Amino acid sequence: MAENAFVLFDMSWPEVKENLSKIKVAIIPTGSCEQHGPNGTFEVDTARAYEVAKMLAARTYPVSIAVPPVLYGISSHHMNFPGTITMRPETFIAVCLDVVDSLYQHGVRKFLFINGHGGNGGALRVVLSEIRDTYEDAAAAMAAPTQVASDVVAQKCKSPITGHACESEISQCMYLAPRAVKQGTLEKGTIRLTVEEYKNPYGIEIARKWDEVSENGALGDATKSSLEIGEAIIETAVERLAAFIRGFAAS
Ligand SMILES: [Zn+2]
Repeated sequence: MAENAFVLFDMSWPEVKENLSKIKVAIIPTGSCEQHGPNGTFEVDTARAYEVAKMLAARTYPVSIAVPPVLYGISSHHMNFPGTITMRPETFIAVCLDVVDSLYQHGVRKFLFINGHGGNGGALRVVLSEIRDTYEDAAAAMAAPTQVASDVVAQKCKSPITGHACESEISQCMYLAPRAVKQGTLEKGTIRLTVEEYKNPYGIEIARKWDEVSENGALGDATKSSLEIGEAIIETAVERLAAFIRGFAAS
């Protein structure tokens, strides 16, 4: 077991039983198995979410536990890139709810999803409302580290369009999980949309396949990635999320 952090995959059941009364919040990482251009591996989203979850369990010890990640996500828009594996939204929702229900049966009542993949967002909102409507004594929240530290991302990452396999995401991986970075083949995103088209003017959204968005599958400019950018984004996000967890645990 990691020192001073509850990480379920590192624990035995007697250890869980012994500490259950202290553990108030389950941190559930959600990721994807999807392409990240030539810049990152299929693990990028899941690795970021899981590593942040483990950092949070350490920073908020002993009130939270990091559970294993939901490692597949909703990535149907990336299926034109070979290797991507997607779940149907209903499958993803069912898996998340089964994870929550298992933990609920063990006595955990608060759940924080740390989401590493934007495509899971809509389904996770359904998961949150299902939890709210199913359990009178449970509470659930979700957060994406990149959004939690969006001010730092805006300050450090200057490309007009970021958000996937870009300098923000690849820098985060350099800090959290260098194994997921393809250091030798980092490339700028070959984006096929204008900034205006990408940013959904007036909130009007078009469901696009990702190869319509970017030829090489990336946004931004991953060649500008650095450990320093990743550290700034992640440490800010973790600090803010840890403060949230302490309050959530005590509420
Ligand atoms: Zn990603």
